[in-house]
Amino acid sequence: MTWKFATSHIGHDGAGALTMEVCHRRADYGNTFGGVFWLSSPPLPEQTPELDVCCPVCTADRGLTVSGTWGGPAQLTCVCGHAWTPHLPGLTPEHLLRALVRLALSSDPGPSMPLWQMRTDRDADHPRPLHQTVRPYLVEAGRALNRREWVFTEDEEHVAADVLTRAGCGYRSVSELPAEDPSDEARLAWVRDNLRVLEDHGRTAEGRLGAFMSNCATALSPAAALTMDDLEPGKTWSDLPPVLDDALSALSAVHVVLTAGATGDVDY
Ligand SMILES: [Zn+2]
Repeated sequence: MTWKFATSHIGHDGAGALTMEVCHRRADYGNTFGGVFWLSSPPLPEQTPELDVCCPVCTADRGLTVSGTWGGPAQLTCVCGHAWTPHLPGLTPEHLLRALVRLALSSDPGPSMPLWQMRTDRDADHPRPLHQTVRPYLVEAGRALNRREWVFTEDEEHVAADVLTRAGCGYRSVSELPAEDPSDEARLAWVRDNLRVLEDHGRTAEGRLGAFMSNCATALSPAAALTMDDLEPGKTWSDLPPVLDDALSALSAVHVVLTAGATGDVDY
């Protein structure tokens, strides 16, 4: 996705920490309350000198526009039209773009900048490759279970129960994550851990269940390489970053099939 938004001021501490101020207009904040909002990131710790990010040509330090594609470098443009790629100490241009976008989207207090004002390709959908890649295996397995063409053996029940238990889902509450730490980091770790469990059990389990789990693990393997940097903000029902939302729901859908097979409750 490509991002572009104007800031009022960007500051940094010379060691990778940023501050940002944005004055933005929201027309969509309820028809009655639309107006101008002042967004300000948390200040640097006391005694930390705040340095201005400024234009290398005209030294303007107000009204810089941030633009760039997620994963790529940030480009700044001053009001005169000078454009440059900033190299701040402790921050690569790629990390700078991600950090500024996240700051603008997570302002506190006050309404953050709306996504649609910041994304230039606002109609573009995030790809949902994992969900789609794993779907044929889920449909095939679900259909076979539903028609009683595939009934879990006792061994298969044990293997499925083990996978589900290690995922933290009881038979009835799949896709429920441990509630004590609902951060994106924790969710991403959950995805990685449970992909590994799926892969390991797929390798050792015999018969149809082994093949099913191996196929799903292979389809979902890109999720194992995800890092926090890949979690681009976006609009989802869950309010999670789209890539994480996709990985979680794809893996949870596998758990639903395992639950159905293990409990014999296949009429879903
Ligand atoms: Zn300039």
